Amino acid sequence: MIDYHIHSNYSDGKASVLQIAKKAKELGLKEIAIVDHSIELSFGLDEKKAKRRAEEIEIAKETYGIKIYSGIECGINNFGEIYLPAFDFDLVIVSVHEYALNYFDRIIDCIEKKEVHVVGHLLSETFGYSRDLEKEKELLDKIESLGVALELNSGHQCPPEDFLAMCSERNLKISIGSDAHRLERVGKVGWCLEKAKKYFWRAKLFEI
Ligand SMILES: [Zn+2]
Ligand SMILES: [Zn+2]
Repeated sequence: MIDYHIHSNYSDGKASVLQIAKKAKELGLKEIAIVDHSIELSFGLDEKKAKRRAEEIEIAKETYGIKIYSGIECGINNFGEIYLPAFDFDLVIVSVHEYALNYFDRIIDCIEKKEVHVVGHLLSETFGYSRDLEKEKELLDKIESLGVALELNSGHQCPPEDFLAMCSERNLKISIGSDAHRLERVGKVGWCLEKAKKYFWRAKLFEI
């Protein structure tokens, strides 16, 4: 089992890298990615923090013997831009963190011009959205042709069911993440696995 979306205390998560690694080991997780918020948020991961966190990740890997990736979750702004600190991340997730009228265009713009791996918590009710079937199809075309992974996010329980149904005939990669901000949520990806089985039996699991 994997969990590719965990926040640590390097942004707004409660647990330290070592605590997360210990928990992941106890749960028998094979691989995890620690993805803190980027610098569009005041508490986000800047270059200095990214370096410090990477050192902690190395120690945690040696201590617990599991694979831990160094990732970041960047919020996509109004212009489809992200703020990425100068650091070689293993994983870049891009997400929208506010209600936006140009929701789909932002994401399309962003994945077209930036090198990113995963579109995070698409159509999460937490941030609100207006559905637009044409735009949703356009986005899916883009995700598919660029080979970007679509995230199944158990924390936000999204994308919604009817959207997932549209994905099942496509050649997509999926990424699995709990979006844990506290230790108890680490590895809680049952929702993702259930949806993966139902809609993505042909899809490839995104692996770093
Ligand atoms: Zn997010
Ligand atoms: Zn997140």
